[in-house]
Amino acid sequence: MAQIVGRCDRCGTPTVRRTREGGHLCSSCAAGERAIDQATRAEPGVQAQLYGPTRAVQRRPGRGRTFSVPSASADRPLRIALLAPPWLPVPPSGYGGIESVVALLADALVEAGHDVTLFAPPGSRSRARVVSVLDRLHPREIGASVVEADHIARAFSHLERAAMRGEPYDLVHDHSGWVALAMADRIQVPVLHTVHGAFDDNAQRFYAEHATKAALSCVSRAQAATRPDGVLVEAVVPNPIDVQAWPTDVPKDDYLLWVGRFTPEKGPHRAIRVAQATGRRLILAGPVQPGQEAYFSERVEPHLDGSQIRYIGEVGGPRKLELFAAARAFLMPITWEEPFGMVMVEAMAAGTPVIAFARGAAPEVVEAGRSGLLVGDEDAMISALEDAAQLSPAECRASVAERFSPAVVAAAYERVYRTIAMPVAEPGAHLADDGHAEEAVAA
Ligand code: UDP
Repeated sequence: MAQIVGRCDRCGTPTVRRTREGGHLCSSCAAGERAIDQATRAEPGVQAQLYGPTRAVQRRPGRGRTFSVPSASADRPLRIALLAPPWLPVPPSGYGGIESVVALLADALVEAGHDVTLFAPPGSRSRARVVSVLDRLHPREIGASVVEADHIARAFSHLERAAMRGEPYDLVHDHSGWVALAMADRIQVPVLHTVHGAFDDNAQRFYAEHATKAALSCVSRAQAATRPDGVLVEAVVPNPIDVQAWPTDVPKDDYLLWVGRFTPEKGPHRAIRVAQATGRRLILAGPVQPGQEAYFSERVEPHLDGSQIRYIGEVGGPRKLELFAAARAFLMPITWEEPFGMVMVEAMAAGTPVIAFARGAAPEVVEAGRSGLLVGDEDAMISALEDAAQLSPAECRASVAERFSPAVVAAAYERVYRTIAMPVAEPGAHLADDGHAEEAVAA
């Protein structure tokens, strides 16, 4: 057996491998570097800047891998555990951005031949194997730590039992919130944690403390750019959308559309001002979440007149699709660094151009001049209404299909998965004391 010659410069694992420069690099980190190189190469039809790492990776592998290392080739199907949040079913019936993303990703990964288990609340449906560790939904307790901790602890137990049965997962892809990342170094399976929200003050503190416990991915470069100092982001992968699900045969009506959570950051009050200044009809849709009642009653409700400016509540199903497709333009007057903005992608998929304030991910998501327009303020938004109406619905859809279809997004994630998954034993390899595969080198 080859001798341990030092510790990997990246992760500290005892290694038998020297780099040409005289340092040390374990086989896992070396394989990660190769895969990252591949992942950063642009693909035809894919906007390269939406993919790939934001900086060099310094990944800490999962700890104490004591079960056997899979012996299949590097392109073997992966055994993936997807962690959904515990609040709503996957896919959601109405509001539920993360749940939609998880639903599409799960199906696309199964389509690509992977073995996927989806840990999601009861009532979830997927082509993946669905495991519901909780016995009911929690739509009224979103964010309650008692629910999230219960969901994650039970899912982690499931992962451990699978490993003990000799059926370990290659990796966990976590979309669930906070608890899984905070505890990611307590399980044996490597974790990829997708950051769905903004890096606000709480998130800054949280990720500064816990980010090293897993690999992190962001959903836009804008979001990644706001990460705390020192936090490493393994890759930027956008959210997927099933473009085929959006109708193409809905006649256009002459209303402007705003859809989202009623919060000042999403800017419905500014959409109202644009409509009032132009006399255009505006439809507003979305939930008023706990804590936002005062904003809604003070800044939105007084302007609703049931005809020119209408609020139609939360929408879902076929009604939502038609609402997006029939709109003349979709307004995104955000007042914050929007991490992604699924509603923009949905509008474009429905053939509706987006007029967005050029903040957060909007400049990455909207192809200005093709699928929408980027503006700096309400006056510019008003001026852009006529130009936006000239944009082709087919081009709006194509812009989305090329960059955000589930197959494209799943392929991007797959490349990331292979950089963090359980290392594959290579000829002449042996297991180090902690189960890490190490390459034997000639003395
Ligand atoms: N949504 C919905 N019904 C509504 C309002 C919103 O289904 O009445 C969906 C919307 O279509 C999108 C998601 O909720 O898929 C919101 O995601 P986005 O990224 O735009 O905003 P977030 O609320 O996640 O910041």
